[in-house]
Amino acid sequence: MAKTGFDVDDIRERFPVLHQEVNGRPLVYLDNAATSQKPLSVIEALNHYYTTDNSNIHRGAHALAARATDYYENTRKSVSSFLNAPSEEQIIFTKGTTEGINLVASTFGRKFIHEGDEIIISAMEHHSNIVPWQMLCAEKGATLKVIPITDDGELIMEEYEKLLSSKTKLVSVLHVSNALGTVNPMESIISMAHRAGAKVLVDAAQSTSHFTVDVQALDCDFLVFSAHKLYGPTGLGVLYGKRELLEEMPPYQGGGEMIKEVDFSGTTYNEIPFKFEAGTPNIADVIAFQKALEFVSTVGKEQLLAHENELLTYATEKLGTIKGFIPVGKAKHKVSVLSFLINGMHPFDVGMMLDAVGIAVRTGHHCAQPLMKRFNIEGTVRASFAVYNTKQEIDVLYVSLSRIAKRKN
Ligand SMILES: *Cc1c(COP(=O)(O)O)cnc(C)c1O
Repeated sequence: MAKTGFDVDDIRERFPVLHQEVNGRPLVYLDNAATSQKPLSVIEALNHYYTTDNSNIHRGAHALAARATDYYENTRKSVSSFLNAPSEEQIIFTKGTTEGINLVASTFGRKFIHEGDEIIISAMEHHSNIVPWQMLCAEKGATLKVIPITDDGELIMEEYEKLLSSKTKLVSVLHVSNALGTVNPMESIISMAHRAGAKVLVDAAQSTSHFTVDVQALDCDFLVFSAHKLYGPTGLGVLYGKRELLEEMPPYQGGGEMIKEVDFSGTTYNEIPFKFEAGTPNIADVIAFQKALEFVSTVGKEQLLAHENELLTYATEKLGTIKGFIPVGKAKHKVSVLSFLINGMHPFDVGMMLDAVGIAVRTGHHCAQPLMKRFNIEGTVRASFAVYNTKQEIDVLYVSLSRIAKRKN
């Protein structure tokens, strides 16, 4: 362990929340696809901001405002290099992935989607990458098309190819499935869409936390993610967009900060990114997010992914030996997520029994009801791994799950 420089005990030390008992047992937190825990550096940055720098940004003539503005804009620079964006003006702060998608639907959508146009999503999308497009299509008289998936939970690329046509204006697909862990072949999805003349939005809510995501290498037109799944605070997300698109799109919300000049005879809008950041933004969380990005870069994305892959392989093999264990989602390329059923049991009951021994998992439809319908199930139990999880924790899960499954199988 020490040789590679990766020390999971040292990493765990940085996450205060992990060091507690739940129902009399040490907490085993395996609900990272819902939200990850935060390192102390992020928590301290929030405290530090409110105790020393709290101020509104961009406008103030005083020292605190200047400091807060610097820190806020520094995070934008860090996010820009985190994604390898061509410039920091292409990084827009939002409330989260959901708001990022809604922003694109109501600005790009309002301007560029017309009657008869088609938008393509996939059968494994999160509700936040389904409903905004349904709303837009209903408003515009456009049509939503869905890429089907295999029983293993992989996109059927031949069917995707067939859906693409000159009517396709946008393809919006998740990079990694929150419910199955499938990693989608994003580069092919994007190049095929571009050949058809369509733009592409990548829902990167589950990918940015596990491996390097390079917006220029992908050549995506938009990409969105949430800070809270990447060791950062809640209530904060990022939208990346290609410059020419962001410049052509109308503003999302009207208000302060997004304007250059307001007159009752008409208003001129601010430059990007400010055009899309109306009102006082989430200053404290943006500033603290810097520390989450620093945490990830200190650990190193390669080491982080290698550790998580080791955990996923170990868990898949070990839990697979339990009688009555049914994995859901067997894609060849997966990260972090192990979704499953225990034969004869409702996922919710399994979740409650695991909670009784301190193990936190997610149960239910994972905000992907159409996907659950595709598998003819109501939901699954989902264990999802982050950089601070250990093989010992998987052993604890294995022992409890074996006991639970034995009663029914
Ligand atoms: C979590 C998630 C979302 C929604 O993110 P919010 O932070 O709730 O806005 C969208 N897509 C995927 C794939 C997700 O995992």
